[in-house]
Amino acid sequence: MRFSSLGSGSLGNALVAEAGRTRVMLDCGFTIQETEVRLARAGLAPSDLSGIIVTHEHGDHADGVFPFARRHGTPVWMTYGTLAALRDAGASVENCPIRLVDSATAFSIGDLLVQPFTVPHDAREPVQYVISDGARRLGVLTDAGCATAHIEASLSGCEALVLECNYDPAMLEGGPYPASLKARITGRLGHLDNGTSGAILAALDRSRLRHVIAAHLSQTNNRPELARAALAGALACDPDWVAVATQEEGFSWRDL
Ligand SMILES: [Zn+2]
Ligand SMILES: [Zn+2]
Repeated sequence: MRFSSLGSGSLGNALVAEAGRTRVMLDCGFTIQETEVRLARAGLAPSDLSGIIVTHEHGDHADGVFPFARRHGTPVWMTYGTLAALRDAGASVENCPIRLVDSATAFSIGDLLVQPFTVPHDAREPVQYVISDGARRLGVLTDAGCATAHIEASLSGCEALVLECNYDPAMLEGGPYPASLKARITGRLGHLDNGTSGAILAALDRSRLRHVIAAHLSQTNNRPELARAALAGALACDPDWVAVATQEEGFSWRDL
């Protein structure tokens, strides 16, 4: 099993995971053309994808999902709440093969097993996912306002973790965002700061952990070295061991 990010941050997110002959894309916040370019960079064609799994309706995760799925006939998995929110916002789901996700029930796509878990975030029915080939597990957590026991239980025992490090509290506080947006980001349905992400990492079972990647960094309110330091602190490891996903490049393939 291996995985790669096509890009991560408030301007768009997509990640691909592969086991055997199955490849899934997790979220698609890029235009069709941009997604195709980024897939090609990872050595993939759109037809290589067995499906798209979606975390929630925010544009940086979902804007590209239906256009891409319609053009390439790719099946899409999402919760009913996410689908309803996208429909309410005017998304056209015509000719898009959609499968509904129950937020507590694992499902299979080819050789991959996908386990959703619920998160506190200001969307209709947001979930995040643990993706497994049956032996190894990749846990992804972005867009969560705070830590929960359910998040920690869901991500325990993974071989790889992609964790949101959205902001540094001092940079956000002293930064240019209006007060209302600062309150939204720091709220319990907002985003994870570096320290909270580190605390989640410190609370989990890390006995099988071999890859840690900080993701969804704000380009305004965070710096890669701050995110890296927070996660390395939780792991008591060298900061260089922690990777950071970027908006432009994401990160290249990693084998589990
Ligand atoms: Zn997001
Ligand atoms: Zn979001």
